[in-house]
Amino acid sequence: MPVFLSTTFVQDSPNQLGYSRVDDPTRLALEKELADLENAKHGLAFSSGSSAVTCLLMTLSKGDHILCHRDIYEGTQRILERVLNKFGVGSDLVDLNNAEEIKKAIRPSTRMIFFENITNPGLEIVDVIKISKLIKRKGILIAVDNTICTPVFQNPITMGADIVVHSLTKFISGSHDVLGGALMTNDKSLFDKLKFIQQTLGLVMSPFDCHLVSRGIKTLDLRVKAQTTNARKVFKLLKANKKVVKANFPGVSGIVSFVIDKNLDARRFLKKLRVIKIAQSFGGVESTILHPNSMMTLTKPVDLNFFRLSVGISDPGELIKDLKDALK
Ligand code: PLP
Repeated sequence: MPVFLSTTFVQDSPNQLGYSRVDDPTRLALEKELADLENAKHGLAFSSGSSAVTCLLMTLSKGDHILCHRDIYEGTQRILERVLNKFGVGSDLVDLNNAEEIKKAIRPSTRMIFFENITNPGLEIVDVIKISKLIKRKGILIAVDNTICTPVFQNPITMGADIVVHSLTKFISGSHDVLGGALMTNDKSLFDKLKFIQQTLGLVMSPFDCHLVSRGIKTLDLRVKAQTTNARKVFKLLKANKKVVKANFPGVSGIVSFVIDKNLDARRFLKKLRVIKIAQSFGGVESTILHPNSMMTLTKPVDLNFFRLSVGISDPGELIKDLKDALK
């Protein structure tokens, strides 16, 4: 697909659309690819994962209520608690794997259940099928953020979700060189509402960024499978190492989390890593590590020596040696 940089297009007649915030050929091509990735009929591409989340939440109205899982990306929690609540939309965080908690938390005004599967940063698994069975008939929309699991391992729409959210910044683009977000759905009336909000607020992805994401999609399957294989090997090393008190690997995609002995200094450990780079984001071909306590503004406490490691595609032997040396 060529990259069309034009923002306005010569029209054959005055009543045609011809402005790239509204419709852009490069973006439309990517949106079709994105929909296909998630087995959905409709896709939308945004300037970031956060703008995709914002667009979805803007479908709610004053007085509406949204229920989320207790472990959720900090940025999404900030949108809910510091932006959306100013417009009169209430939210609660509960354990969505607990049916009793869900039943108790649902109000007559609950319009949406939103969660990540797998969750960030806790790497918890939330049961999409169970939740959709519990909720389906109540007319509450089920939205699943599939950023960590990726469409390689799961298509939430085929599991009962109404809409899928992605930060394209992570695994889907895969090279830490583009910010992006996506929404995918089969529901035409929901799609029309989302498209109206996206066009009106200008929450769109630029044509060049669409090109980068589309290029990333070509290698998504290969990358994510290699990252998963490497992550499994790294996880085995971490589990066996006496200085690691806890390690978690959900078995899909390249993310592993672990806690090191409280007597070890987290910053010293980070400094000793050579191959694995200290960085905020995840999902790229390079291996990156995040120490939430020193690198994020946390809204809830996390274990002092907790790390989230995003395993890349390089030789797993090198990564294992890097971790072993840093833990010495
Ligand atoms: N959803 C999840 C699970 C994330 O981890 C992130 C960012 O880290 C986002 C959404 C927001 O995406 P972006 O940083 O592209 O705005």
